[in-house]
Amino acid sequence: DPSVENYHPVNDAYWKAQRTTPYLALARTFQVIEETKGRLKMIDTLSNFFCSVMLVSPEDLLPCVYLSINQLAPAYEGLELGVAETTLMKAICKATGRNLAHIKSQTQLTGDLGIVAEQSRVSQRMMFRPKPLNVRGVFAKLKEIANISGQAKITLVYDVFVACRHAEARFFIRSLIGKLRIGIAEQSLLTALAIALVKRNHINDCKAHKVCDIYKDEIADTTLILKTTYSQCPNYDIVIPALLKYDIKELQDRCPMHPGMPLRPMLAQPTKGVSEVLERFSGMQITCEWKYDGERAQIHLNKDGEISIFSRNSENNTPKYPDLIARSKSLVKGNVETYILDSEIVAWDIERKQILPFQILTTRKRKNVDIADIKVQVCVYIFDLLYFNGVSLVTKPLSERRKILMEHFQEVEGEWQFATALDTTDMDEVQQFLEESIKGNCEGLMVKTLDEEATYEIAKRSRNWLKLKKDYLSNVGDSLDLVVIGGYKGKGRRTGIYGGFLLACYDTENEEYQSICKIGTGFTDEDLRQHSEFLSAHVISSAKSYFRYDPSLEPDAWFEPVQVWEVKCADLSLSPIHRAAIGAVDPERGISLRFPRFIRIRDDKSPENATDANQVSLMYNSQDQVKNNQKSSDQMD
Ligand code: ATP
Repeated sequence: DPSVENYHPVNDAYWKAQRTTPYLALARTFQVIEETKGRLKMIDTLSNFFCSVMLVSPEDLLPCVYLSINQLAPAYEGLELGVAETTLMKAICKATGRNLAHIKSQTQLTGDLGIVAEQSRVSQRMMFRPKPLNVRGVFAKLKEIANISGQAKITLVYDVFVACRHAEARFFIRSLIGKLRIGIAEQSLLTALAIALVKRNHINDCKAHKVCDIYKDEIADTTLILKTTYSQCPNYDIVIPALLKYDIKELQDRCPMHPGMPLRPMLAQPTKGVSEVLERFSGMQITCEWKYDGERAQIHLNKDGEISIFSRNSENNTPKYPDLIARSKSLVKGNVETYILDSEIVAWDIERKQILPFQILTTRKRKNVDIADIKVQVCVYIFDLLYFNGVSLVTKPLSERRKILMEHFQEVEGEWQFATALDTTDMDEVQQFLEESIKGNCEGLMVKTLDEEATYEIAKRSRNWLKLKKDYLSNVGDSLDLVVIGGYKGKGRRTGIYGGFLLACYDTENEEYQSICKIGTGFTDEDLRQHSEFLSAHVISSAKSYFRYDPSLEPDAWFEPVQVWEVKCADLSLSPIHRAAIGAVDPERGISLRFPRFIRIRDDKSPENATDANQVSLMYNSQDQVKNNQKSSDQMD
C-alpha cells in the first residue's frame, strides 16, 4: 500500500505490476533528498530512483527527469509554472475545507506553502480514496496548468490536489510555485542519471550500493559523456530517449548540436587589471577584443533557412529583431547552409556611425516588433562561430574558428561587423587598446586564448576568456547582478515612491534568494519613479517562502523576484544580518555589499541567473585584504 507511512519505492508492488511510476515514489524520493545533507548522498538517492524507473517503467524517465528539475520542456521553449501562491491557497482551501486566513498564517509561520498543503491533507478525513497518482498523469496535468489561466487553473490544481497523499501534496504545490527546494540542479541531475545508467547495467552482477565503488571509472566516463552531450544538445526530449535506446558511447553522435537549439554561452572570468591578464596568459598566444556593451545574441541559421536569435539566457529573442532577420543575407558569402554565431547586439547611431550607450538599446520594444516602427537601429558585432555548414566547431581553437568566420561571412558597415581585435601580449599595447575601446563606447576588453586551451567551452565561465573592464574596481573586479525583492518608502523628495530597495543574490543550490544589501544610491529621480511604477505591479502580500533575510530588514513592500539590477560596490564584507552565501565563509554570517550603487537593469538575465551565492563568496575571498589576512593566518599556522 503506497499510502503507508514507511513507504519505500523499492517495495512498491503496485509500481511493478502496473509498470507506471507512482507519483508517490517520486515524491518520497524528493522527501528523502530534502532531508539528506551532502550532495553525494542526494545524488545517490536520486540515482537509485532513476535506476528503478529505467528498469520498471523506462518511458517515465523523461517526466521524472523534468519533474526533478521542475521543468516542463526545454527551458528555451519558455513553458513555465510559477502559479501565484494565492491561487494555490484557494485550491488548497477548497480541497481541505480550511479557511484562507489559516492557510496564510501557517504559510507565514513555516515559510513553505508545500508543507502547509501536506499537513492540511494529512489531517483531513477522506470519504473515499482517490486513485493513486502516477508521474505521467501529474506531468501532463502540470503542462495543462501552465497553458491555461483563470478559474480553470484553480480547478485543475484542485483535481490533482485532492488525490495527493503525504509528500505528494508538498511537492505538487512546490512544483506549481516554481521552487522544488530539493537542491537538485542540472549538474547533479546529470550525474544522478549517469550513475543510474551504470547501476542498471550492472544490476545483475552486484548490489546497487556497491556499483559506485566497483565501477568508479565507468561512472566518471558516463558522467562526462552525458554532460558533454547535454551541453551540445540541451534538450531532454532528445537526450533521454537516446540514453535509453543506444549505448552510451554513441550518445554524443546521436544527440548532435543543431541550429535552432540554443547553446548556453561561454562566459568570462573577471580580472583586476592588465598585469593580472598577462600573468595568467604568460607564454600563450592571445587576442584582445573590444567588449561591446549591448545584448548577447546567439544567431542560428537552420537547414530550413530559418534564423533564430537567442539571448544570454537562451530565450528566444527572434521576434525582437525582425530588422536583423531581414538583412541576414548580406552577412554571408557564397554557399552557407547552417551556422551558429556568437555576437553582441549594440544600438547604432547611423548618422555619426558610432555605437550608442546600452541604455538606448533597452528602449527597443521586445515583442511584436514591426520593422516599420523601429526607432533604434542596431549593429551586430560578431566574435565567434560555433557551428558551420553541418559541423560543430566548438572543439577547434579560436584561431581556426575565426579563420572560418572571416572566410564565409562579411562586414556591412553599421549592420554586421567583426569584433575589433588585436593579437598582442605587449602590456603597453593592451593598455592602449583598452583605452581605445573606451573611446569607442565599449566597456573594455575581452582577452582570449587563440591556440592553446582555446576551444569554445559551452556553458562555462572559463579562465580562457578574461574580461578587463574600464572601471574595474581595484578591489572587487566586477559588478554584481542582483534581484530586487523589497522596497522601502521614500522620504522628502522621494515621498510617494520607493526610495530604497532590498537586493538579493540567488543561491542555486538551495533555490533561494538571500539578502545581500539595501540600496538607495545611483538612482536618478526618474529611475526611482520608473522602478516604483514597475515594481508596484509585482508587490506580494508577504515574503516568498524562499527569501532568506533577517526580520530587521523587513521592507515596506515585498516584490515577486522579477527584475535583475547590475550593482557596483566598494567591497564585500561579512554581515550579521544579510544572508548571502551564509555558511560559505562564516558559519553564521552572510556577505553584504558596502556602498552599493545602482548601475542599470539587466533585462537579459532572469532572476535565477543573478549572481550566485557561490560567486559572491568567491568574490569575497578574492579581495586583497581577505587574501592578505588568509596569507598571514597561514603563516601563523
Ligand atoms: P557574465 O556573462 O560573465 O555573467 P555579464 O553578463 O554581466 O557577466 P559581462 O561581465 O559584462 O557580462 O561580460 C561578458 C559579456 O560581454 C558577454 O556575455 C557578452 O554579452 C559581452 N561581450 C561583448 N563583447 C564581447 C566579445 N568580444 N567577446 C565575448 N563577449 C563579449
